[in-house]
Amino acid sequence: MTDYLDVHDAAYDAERSGYNLSVEHRPAVVVPARSTEDVVAAVRHARDRALGVAVLATGHGPSWSADGQVLINTSRLDDVEVDPVARTARVGAGVRGEALVAAAAEHGLAPVNGSSPEVGVVSYHLGGGLGVLGRHFGWAVDHVRAIELVTADGELRRVTHGSDPELFWGLRGGGRGTLGVATALEIDLHPVDRIYGGGMHFAADRARDALLTWADWSRDLPEAMGTSVLLIHLPDVPFLPEELRGRYVVHVRFAWAGPAAEGERLVRVFRDLGPVTDTVAEMPCAAVGTIHAEPATPVAFHARNAVLGSLDPEAVDVLLSHAGPDAGAGYLVEVRLLGGALGRPGAVPSALGRRDGHVVLYAGGAAEGEQVAELQAALGRLLADMRPWGTGGVCVSFLSGSDVTAAELASGYLPGDAERLDALKTRLDPHDVFRTHHGRG
Ligand SMILES: Cc1cc2nc3c(=O)[nH]c(=O)nc-3n(C[C@H](O)[C@H](O)[C@H](O)COP(=O)(O)OP(=O)(O)OC[C@H]3O[C@@H](n4cnc5c(N)ncnc54)[C@H](O)[C@@H]3O)c2cc1C
Repeated sequence: MTDYLDVHDAAYDAERSGYNLSVEHRPAVVVPARSTEDVVAAVRHARDRALGVAVLATGHGPSWSADGQVLINTSRLDDVEVDPVARTARVGAGVRGEALVAAAAEHGLAPVNGSSPEVGVVSYHLGGGLGVLGRHFGWAVDHVRAIELVTADGELRRVTHGSDPELFWGLRGGGRGTLGVATALEIDLHPVDRIYGGGMHFAADRARDALLTWADWSRDLPEAMGTSVLLIHLPDVPFLPEELRGRYVVHVRFAWAGPAAEGERLVRVFRDLGPVTDTVAEMPCAAVGTIHAEPATPVAFHARNAVLGSLDPEAVDVLLSHAGPDAGAGYLVEVRLLGGALGRPGAVPSALGRRDGHVVLYAGGAAEGEQVAELQAALGRLLADMRPWGTGGVCVSFLSGSDVTAAELASGYLPGDAERLDALKTRLDPHDVFRTHHGRG
């Protein structure tokens, strides 16, 4: 029997919150879904009462507050079935990256996983999915074969390119929570079991050198190399190595899908700069989540991003003037390399059509109350000053939070595609059962 928990139920609070605390959900009821049938029942329950439906898997990317709605908590839909012969997996709506990576690794396979083991596989794939080996494999969205979806009419469909090409197009890159609830995905896996990867921390006095080196080095890299760089003032907390606690650092990350010796040669230029830490080594693909080592503790996090067409020395200096060792920025900055297979269209068209750009510039921080406006203003100043290097686009995958504007979201798509998504939404969900503040999630 499907449970509908309201504010009087003891489990209500635990069921309505996840990783990012920037948005508090105060739904009319929360449904802890234990089966596809529970999802179908919850959507019909909402439809019959003219309520909206929102979805919570892990809470890493809440896009709007589900106040007064039916919030479906999908975290228990955590089945992963790997078909090692077909090199595919069927992944339930509540599966996190680490569970999929572990299940695939048992067969020497890997998904196009992102940096955090905690992020939900389904929403990550539907949003685009920029993987640590994305330059090698392309966007995760291009590796979705089928989507099991409960639509606004309360019906369960299996959506493929063959069954409904327009919906399959829109769901992939344009349909995180706005076109239906995905109960499971079928995705491709890839034969990679070892990589050469890890990260190197550089101290504040080497920040500019490290960033300039990365900017130059990353201009012309083999596609099998995925890389990013993080600028951060680390907290003074015991779980960090002594030499990093409370320090400003630049963390350069690598994931190389080729032979280890070749990877070692490629990263030598950074070893020569004298990092404070160096974890870069041959590793099982299953350990890929250790490369970025992102914290799992829930936080009220606000972030913005922009796609840049280039990162020259002048851009590096502007970036450092906002987020360098002396800037006292109250936020972190991450720059991830695009290009390679990420720059090419997938075999089957998707709403994630805009694939230009050299890097994604992502900036964000924790803030609550009055600090939120201050943080958002600081992020706005950074993005405004980096605009000369921007493509005018954003990385849709990383957009989250109620501060994302419809115009910002539209800039992540090819001209006309935001309108095409609106038309699809109107056809499929005319009464706006799956609500967001700007319609596309
Ligand atoms: C620490 C961190 C690291 C990240 N790393 C990467 C990365 O490397 N690459 C990358 O591309 N992105 C990355 N992201 C972004 C992430 O992929 C998105 O925020 C994603 O939407 C999170 O999905 P979730 O299920 O974990 O979170 P939730 O907050 O539970 O879900 C986010 C939204 O997705 C929708 N949704 C969730 N489940 C379903 C479903 N079953 N059916 C329909 N809609 C659904 C809902 O609208 C929901 O509001 C990262 C985010 C964080 C916070």
